[in-house]
Amino acid sequence: MACLPNRQHAQCRPTTVGHMHPSDLPVPPAIAARPHDPRGYPIPAITPWEGGRPQFASLSARRVYLCVTQRRCTVCGLEIPPGPVWRVVDTEETEMLAEVLSHGVGHKFLNKAPTEEGPGHRACMIYSAMVCPFLGGPEARRGQGTNTYGEEIPRGEARGHKGGVAAYDSCEFRETAVGPGCVYGHPLELLEYERGEDLLGALEEAVIDDTAALTGTCPSWLLDDETAVEAAFLRAMRTPEETARIKAERRMTEARRKRQKQAKASRRRNR
Ligand SMILES: [Zn+2]
Repeated sequence: MACLPNRQHAQCRPTTVGHMHPSDLPVPPAIAARPHDPRGYPIPAITPWEGGRPQFASLSARRVYLCVTQRRCTVCGLEIPPGPVWRVVDTEETEMLAEVLSHGVGHKFLNKAPTEEGPGHRACMIYSAMVCPFLGGPEARRGQGTNTYGEEIPRGEARGHKGGVAAYDSCEFRETAVGPGCVYGHPLELLEYERGEDLLGALEEAVIDDTAALTGTCPSWLLDDETAVEAAFLRAMRTPEETARIKAERRMTEARRKRQKQAKASRRRNR
């Protein structure tokens, strides 16, 4: 549930109790650098744009695919350093992970079900959990229904009494029996919370740690340029053979241009 708000949660009214406004919180610098909407909400890397406006009600599967395969944070768009990846989990997953981790058997546990939600940095995911109207509190209700891998989630569904921000040892984008999606590895750590503000201390710490660890910039295809997203996706989908063919064609075109230029120059000399 990487959302700041996102597809499933954006339509939760900002007046919904529980969550915190971005101005209430320390902001990870990579999130501060993102485009913001007029309400002051940063626009996550996986939100598509149309006509210069972020489309919170949709989630770009292409952006998620690119983030996961290139190990980039689905919130801020920067690379995730080696080590764990983080995501926000719902009440059911939180309870399951709490059980598994309290018995020290995280290394034996794998949830193979795919999810549309890609991973991110620790600070970015904690921040999302606190700011998102749907994730931020037990009274929060979903503003719009959704359908995820055949499971209908109705409008008005409550978040549940707790949520979690969980670390995993990996995340892959995979084709599964119910469709393609993000499949996470073994769980490593879980931060449980009831209300967004419960995570304030964890956010402060994570912002300091992640700021020291993060380098690089967000590529144009994780900002507001959908043409760049399309081009990056097509590049990523090419097989090695296709890449080799395109390079060879480019080399042949260049060689042809060079020959034509030389012929023209020699004709001029011979006049
Ligand atoms: Zn991030």
